[in-house]
Amino acid sequence: MKKFDPANAIQDLHQFGEFGDVNPSVTDSATYTFLEARTMTDTFQGETEGCYLYSRHWNPSNKYLADALAAMENTEAAWVTASGMSAITCTILQICNSGDHIVSSMTTYGGTFAFFENYLKKFNIAVTFVNISNLDSVKKAMRPNTKLIYTETMTNPLLQISNLPELAKIAHANNAKLVCDNTFTPLMVTPHNFGVDVVVYSMTKFVNGKNDCVAGAICSTTDFINSLADVNCGTAMLLGPVLDPKLSSSILKNLHTLHIRMMQHGKNALYLAERFKELGIKFNYPGLPEHPDHELLKSMMNNGYGFGGMIAIDMGTAEKANAIMEKMQDADVGYLAVSLGYFKTLFSNSGKSTSSEVPEEIQREMGMSEGLIRFSVGLDMNIERTFDKIKDCIYKIKN
Ligand SMILES: *Cc1c(COP(=O)(O)O)cnc(C)c1O
Repeated sequence: MKKFDPANAIQDLHQFGEFGDVNPSVTDSATYTFLEARTMTDTFQGETEGCYLYSRHWNPSNKYLADALAAMENTEAAWVTASGMSAITCTILQICNSGDHIVSSMTTYGGTFAFFENYLKKFNIAVTFVNISNLDSVKKAMRPNTKLIYTETMTNPLLQISNLPELAKIAHANNAKLVCDNTFTPLMVTPHNFGVDVVVYSMTKFVNGKNDCVAGAICSTTDFINSLADVNCGTAMLLGPVLDPKLSSSILKNLHTLHIRMMQHGKNALYLAERFKELGIKFNYPGLPEHPDHELLKSMMNNGYGFGGMIAIDMGTAEKANAIMEKMQDADVGYLAVSLGYFKTLFSNSGKSTSSEVPEEIQREMGMSEGLIRFSVGLDMNIERTFDKIKDCIYKIKN
């Protein structure tokens, strides 16, 4: 069998518009006409191939993007949503009923953590948080009513790597699903190839790469995607977090440059990691052999896309981290901002921002220092020059 490569899968897509336009036409209609009344009834009852009904259900522009994402993730189907959080929450609520149980990595995106810890109580869905690298503790946390294991391929902000094949075994032995957020590692890792049942994305980050919109995606089997879109009990259909088709069209175009961007993000982050190492700064980057999950990541990686654009350094205290970040912004290293996967470098103190929903004791338990600066390394042409600026900022604060 030919080895799966996600960039080839995207390149081989044959999608063009109704007028031969190389970019599929944008369909901005909310509703669609039927020439025969019976076709409308059939469409409501199930699928009539090629028929669109109403844009909360399906929209052609959203379908083009969903098909491209399914190709990229090697899944049968995909669904696009108005945000990463709606992709995550619709997936969870589709799988779990009241009285069910979830085993989740303790290190997840802050919004996901808050949804699990605070919001799911309303529905009497219990969540056990575990160190996802400790497979024994994952096994021990499983209960007869566990419906899913939730993790991120590369977790935020500590860049811990999930052992997807082993987690899939544990989930499937318990008749549970493995759900994985692949936001930090598009193209680099194809979670479905390791047994992940549902892959979720915040496309706001690397996939779109321009910070000009918020969007999400769910990639899975045709059955699961159809269940989300079911007019009677589909979570996506009924909660309705529809992605604007104009944005779908824009994201689809950006998807076609994702491989080039991932390579450059990864190349620049690796360079910074190597230089931080020389300087003796405490850092976290899964692309260097010092990282405890380096080999694990390599074992799951599609070759050629690098080790990702995320790197974290530890400045010890929040005061120092803040002072360095302000200096870096003044020196045009990038912007003091949350989010990631942008063409410019973004940095923030995780504990006080994107992970602030995680209580401080848990942050410490996770090994998250209050002085942690998370970088999303940009597409800088001359990363050496950027490194020199960062080094100056660190020295100015230290001395
Ligand atoms: C940003 C992010 C989310 C949430 O996505 P939105 O598009 O902001 O709703 C979920 N998971 C991860 C890993 C993220 O970085």
